[in-house]
Amino acid sequence: MGDVAADPRRRVPRTDALLADPRLAAAAVTVGRERVKAAVHRAQERARRGEITPEAVRDAALAALPASTPRAVLNATGVVLHTNLGRAALSPAAVAAVAAATGHTDVELDLRTGRRARRGRDALDALAAAVPDAGAVHVVNNGAAALVLAATALAADAEIVVSRGELVEIGDGFRLPDLLESTGARLREVGTTNRSTLDDYAAALGPRTGFVLKVHPSNFQVTGFTSAVPVRALATLGVPVVADIGSGLLAPDALLPAEPDAASTLRAGAALVTASGDKLLGGPQTGLLLGAADLVERLRRHPLARALRVDKLTLAALAATLGDPTTPTRTALHADPGALRERTERLRDALAADGCEAQVVPAGAVVGGGGAPGVELPSWALALPEHYAGPLRLGDPPVLGRVIRGRLLLDLRCVPVDADAALRAAVLRVPGRG
Ligand SMILES: *Cc1c(COP(=O)(O)O)cnc(C)c1O
Repeated sequence: MGDVAADPRRRVPRTDALLADPRLAAAAVTVGRERVKAAVHRAQERARRGEITPEAVRDAALAALPASTPRAVLNATGVVLHTNLGRAALSPAAVAAVAAATGHTDVELDLRTGRRARRGRDALDALAAAVPDAGAVHVVNNGAAALVLAATALAADAEIVVSRGELVEIGDGFRLPDLLESTGARLREVGTTNRSTLDDYAAALGPRTGFVLKVHPSNFQVTGFTSAVPVRALATLGVPVVADIGSGLLAPDALLPAEPDAASTLRAGAALVTASGDKLLGGPQTGLLLGAADLVERLRRHPLARALRVDKLTLAALAATLGDPTTPTRTALHADPGALRERTERLRDALAADGCEAQVVPAGAVVGGGGAPGVELPSWALALPEHYAGPLRLGDPPVLGRVIRGRLLLDLRCVPVDADAALRAAVLRVPGRG
């Protein structure tokens, strides 16, 4: 007898309701409806036998299907631009633009004349408008590709003069000096690890000089007895200065005073600026090239440019990002610590109501490998026991935090506000919590 609704067998979700679930429906497209149905039936059986709760049927069916990648994850690390998590999250405007561009588009056609047009002109025009100091702009696949194109077109069989303090490893074992030399350019190293002077550069110039390269050390800092030569001084040497600013900040950001931006660097006299589009600009993975019109035209017409050409989806996302600068990256960077604290306290209270104890603790968020080394953004985090880390990472959605001194810290700075409920549910699903 008893309450019918309390009988778990009665509460097992129906097959048609499960098949209408967005994630199972998406799986049906990739692995086939029959396979999804079979997984659903097996999960329902397990619930009827009492092995899993009725609420867990959907996840059990999903878990039995081949995992699709990439999977959307919640970035609670407090690292705004996490290269392993895909760096910048695209804005809703960029996502919509990508969706609209998936079919046939006018990416390289002028609909008024019916003739070929400049590929990706919306994105290029938006970039040029955002940085009026650039005579011309070009977009390639990523920051490394921008450097390769510059080195190939402007310094093949010539020398690139660069400070020993700026021979950077960007990550995963990739090093800028190797990348530059792979183009056939020769590096002419000047100065020392900690100090380079304008005289060092001047002494290295000669008939074989292609350009002087200035690289922003975007993932490390050298402090103490140091000196580096700013672009403004390098620009007096009478050879083109190419500046790899790294992060793709187009104009200064008061929050990150030490981070170079494209407009200021061009005004300081750089002939060419290279940068990544998926760091502080908050757009899709791209390499941005901005500078003197004749140089940019040489890059654009170089045969290699065709091999570094960007996809129509990327161009659509970049144009939309430039048209709506309130990107998730910007929102996360400029999040108010007081508001973050209140949000984290609400999450803690909601968890407590379900019997899950957590603390709200001060934390330091960072920009990430994408820029601003040494800058700590005051933040707050939800602290849970360390053993939550694994189950949360393997959960649905996967939640990534930071383990520090035996505690898992979840920083909401980079978690979209509308995902707080999903985060709370993910924490409550951790087995054996408490
Ligand atoms: C990130 C970075 C690069 C590499 O850019 P990708 O877009 O990752 O290819 C090169 N130089 C600097 C200074 C960077 O910060």
